[in-house]
Amino acid sequence: MERTLLHDLSKAPVGPASHLIDGLSQAASDGGTMDVISPLNGTRLTTMARGTVEDAEAAIAAARAAFDDGRWSGLAPAARKKILLKWADLIEAKAQELAVLGVRDNGTEIAMALKAEPLSAAGTIRYFAEAIDKIYGEIAPTAPGTLGLVHKEPVGVVGAIVPWNFPLMIGAWKLGPALAAGCTVVLKPAETASLTLLEIAKLALDAGLPPGVLNVVTGEGAVVGATIAESNAVDALVFTGSGATGRRLLEASARSNFKRVYLELGGKSPNVVFADAPDLDEAAKVSAYGIFRNSGQVCVAGSRLLVERSIHDAFVEKLKQVAETMVVGDPLNPETSAGAINSEAQLEQNLRFVAEARAAGRQIVTGGERILQETGGYYMAPTIVAGVSPEDAIAQEEVFGPVLAVIPFDSEDEAVAIANGTDFGLAAAVWTADLSRAHRMVRRIKAGVVHVNTYGGADVTVPLGGVKQSGNGHDKSLHAFDKFFDLKTAWIKL
Ligand code: ADP
Repeated sequence: MERTLLHDLSKAPVGPASHLIDGLSQAASDGGTMDVISPLNGTRLTTMARGTVEDAEAAIAAARAAFDDGRWSGLAPAARKKILLKWADLIEAKAQELAVLGVRDNGTEIAMALKAEPLSAAGTIRYFAEAIDKIYGEIAPTAPGTLGLVHKEPVGVVGAIVPWNFPLMIGAWKLGPALAAGCTVVLKPAETASLTLLEIAKLALDAGLPPGVLNVVTGEGAVVGATIAESNAVDALVFTGSGATGRRLLEASARSNFKRVYLELGGKSPNVVFADAPDLDEAAKVSAYGIFRNSGQVCVAGSRLLVERSIHDAFVEKLKQVAETMVVGDPLNPETSAGAINSEAQLEQNLRFVAEARAAGRQIVTGGERILQETGGYYMAPTIVAGVSPEDAIAQEEVFGPVLAVIPFDSEDEAVAIANGTDFGLAAAVWTADLSRAHRMVRRIKAGVVHVNTYGGADVTVPLGGVKQSGNGHDKSLHAFDKFFDLKTAWIKL
């Protein structure tokens, strides 16, 4: 991005944010607001509406009415496609502005944010828009005297509750297929990353999305999110966030109308490096970026490094060198490779995990501390902890920070046992030059995605979803539509 533009955008005043309900910007019903604190310097960026139960109910009612009167689901799929493609174009046209606003709100480094946020969101929306007029129902292979038709119908009103890391990317994973399928949506962004989602929702109106089809309510999860989860007028919930919240959503569904609940709940992803990895320098570099980019605030981050014992010390040394040369700091500097921690609370949680490991005698190879405190922002040095036992909290729980737990192993079986030895199953990687071993490991590791001789990287064409306590259902790829269609059979006597 051109530097003067970046500078201007990073200083631009940000006005107070309101909900978007039924096509209108609306303040909270009781006038309440909450401060939006920038993690770059700890100062107030702006304020946003602190949603009330009434606000969430108004948004749900708007989405319900918009679904039930067919203003969106009743359009030809090709007509929905046209509007969604226009929306993607408008997002792309404002990509730089959106990326900088997002960075100021949530702290992701700008080089990554531009690609991973507005541009990724536009690409995702386009993918699902383009697909929607190419999806057919079925004719069942019944006996000649009957005709069995299987219709795919939009599920109805979708509640989408999304997190603060990559709000546009993850938001688009939900909004793209939901809206393309003909559903209407009530979106609840995270407290610390709402601004860009509100902006793109306004662009959807400009693109011709009818009012009430996409509603956004900001505020606290326990108020706004909980009201959506408990509502009998919401037909499905799609969520990315913590396991604790996921459990509450399932409980709320059980207490209310059994709405379908799809959860993407993070992980403790194993990155397994065998001594025969084709290029250990490359493996160290990619592994370091696989945990430290966006300061580890990535659900698929490779937060457990399993290294074959014969190369353990040399490999950890290589990693240390990469970690120590990464540029950590102001995420609006294009050279930065790891930006801010999203909030002070998250930073404190990261440091608690490290303190516990240190107290247990684990080796802090590098990092372990808050840095750049003089900026007022929330920054942490890339942290490598070695000598970790697979049972340690730092090897079992999702830190969601720039903290890598290193565990040695001696055999393939042991690597598999450690890799599968957590409650999670989201992502993984295996580094080896042995083709058979690579395929064996892909099959044996319980995870939604297993990378081979790389870490991270995927696109909208492949599904992302967890197994075990990493969740259920899939974002991305045509499989993402499954969450938003109901199957209806027409059984016809001929
Ligand atoms: P994270 O650890 O990523 O912040 P959370 O699960 O706390 O994960 O937050 C993810 C999303 O869930 C946010 O939009 C948040 O506001 C929302 N949320 C938090 N608590 C609840 C709740 N009790 N009910 C519904 N949504 C919630």
